[in-house]
Amino acid sequence: MTTQAEIDAIRAETIAPQSLFIDGKQVAGSAEPMGVTSPIDGSDLTTIANATSAEVDLAVASARAAFNDGRWSNLPPAARKKILFAIADGIEADALALSILGIRDNGTEFAMAYKAEAGSAAGTFRYYAEAIDKVSGEIAPTASNTLGLVHHEPVGVVGAIIPWNFPLMIGAWKLAPALAAGNSVVLKPAETASLSLLHLAEIASAAGLPDGVFNVVTGDGRIAGDALARSMDVDVLAFTGSGVTGRKLLEASAQSNLKRVYLELGGKSPNIVFADAPDLDQAAKVSAAGIFRNSGQVCVAGSRLLVERSIHDDFVAALKQHAEALRVGDPLDLETQIGAVNSERQLAGNLSLTATAIKEGAEVITGGARILGQTGGTYMAPTILQNVLRTNTVFRSEVFGPVLAVTPFDSEEEAISLANDSDLGLAAGVWTANLSRAHRMIRAVQAGVVHVNTYGGADNTVPLGGHKQSGNGSDKSLHALSKYTNLKTAWIQL
Ligand code: NAD
Repeated sequence: MTTQAEIDAIRAETIAPQSLFIDGKQVAGSAEPMGVTSPIDGSDLTTIANATSAEVDLAVASARAAFNDGRWSNLPPAARKKILFAIADGIEADALALSILGIRDNGTEFAMAYKAEAGSAAGTFRYYAEAIDKVSGEIAPTASNTLGLVHHEPVGVVGAIIPWNFPLMIGAWKLAPALAAGNSVVLKPAETASLSLLHLAEIASAAGLPDGVFNVVTGDGRIAGDALARSMDVDVLAFTGSGVTGRKLLEASAQSNLKRVYLELGGKSPNIVFADAPDLDQAAKVSAAGIFRNSGQVCVAGSRLLVERSIHDDFVAALKQHAEALRVGDPLDLETQIGAVNSERQLAGNLSLTATAIKEGAEVITGGARILGQTGGTYMAPTILQNVLRTNTVFRSEVFGPVLAVTPFDSEEEAISLANDSDLGLAAGVWTANLSRAHRMIRAVQAGVVHVNTYGGADNTVPLGGHKQSGNGSDKSLHALSKYTNLKTAWIQL
């Protein structure tokens, strides 16, 4: 059990200015570094290198050289497996320091960061390490005078660009399957969440991952991210982030080497509560957590509550109670349940979309404002807006903050119509005790994951990916391996 004293001792440590991680070592960036501000109290934490496109090219060249000489890609599967297990052990051994480092620049509450970040990243490395010698190629059912073999080959160099929420967890979702398949990787973390990934590179190196196989380039997405997306020597680009950036990556691919681009984008996920839900108070409690944890900065957050009209007022009242009971504050305080919004920019966006919602007719049930301003940090009260119509901005646009839009419905058909009235399709929730209705809803709702009588939660065994404009390809599960491999057929005359 972690104590507050342990956390406080680690958070008091100063963080040295950070370098790039290329070819197994720290490389000082040549451009003016970027400042890193703590969302906890607005203080200056440290600086990160602002990689130039030449430095990104250097990282890609290092990854390519490592791939071509086979120092990783040609290692026997058992040897690669051992190193991925050692990375998982390294993450676990350092889980507290890693989590705290990540919280200091991204603001996620400790309980969530410790479990969902370091804990899950270690599990992800183990899951794909196990897969290395479990997933095989195929022998096709051909005529007896021929032999058709299907090989799964690594693609070569994988570029990964990731967001600031859950950097370690999402980084591991890309990195672990890409490495397990035998590739080299260049990872570009978000400007406001690079620290834990730079530390992960050191852990991987200490665990025996050969130099050049995993490189980290930090800095401005429009420069470093763009250079990775336009590289002629990156074979696959795996991205998690906003739709705006996702579109730019597709263009960059079209204008460069037609690299495969996988997109994990945002959501405006409907959480649908029927009057026959098995336990309405539990549904309200879990629904509150499903939108407010990590200050709503969760891609699958249930940000649209669709609730059957007959229970609307009681359910919203219960939800308000649960929202107001959540303790928002310093994410490194063990008593805190909801930490900081990632940045001033993100908080300003949350408040602006809330103001638009009010202008368009929504009623604020609770929250709606910045809080704890005296700390210097970026905090927002859990916010519930009711009377939201399907035409309103807050019904259609992702806030990516602690803002819940509530809309009533009168029938199953209307619930489905409201749920699917979105360009996005990442996740959904359905609360009902009626088994047939639950299965009908699973089929009808357009989303990559449908939670039934819960919201959130999953593990490495199941994929996470979006439908519609929420993305393509999935992270997690054995399906993710196919993103990082090419199929090759050998056709042999016997
Ligand atoms: P973002 O698109 O602004 O940034 C994501 C990454 O892209 C960062 O590393 C950034 O530096 C980089 N980037 C920015 N501009 C770029 C450019 N022109 N070229 C190349 N790279 C560039 O997104 P964000 O604000 O960091 O993340 C929030 C978004 O991510 C939300 O929409 C959220 O829903 C989504 N998200 C999705 C999932 C999922 O699994 N589907 C998970 C987490 C977050």
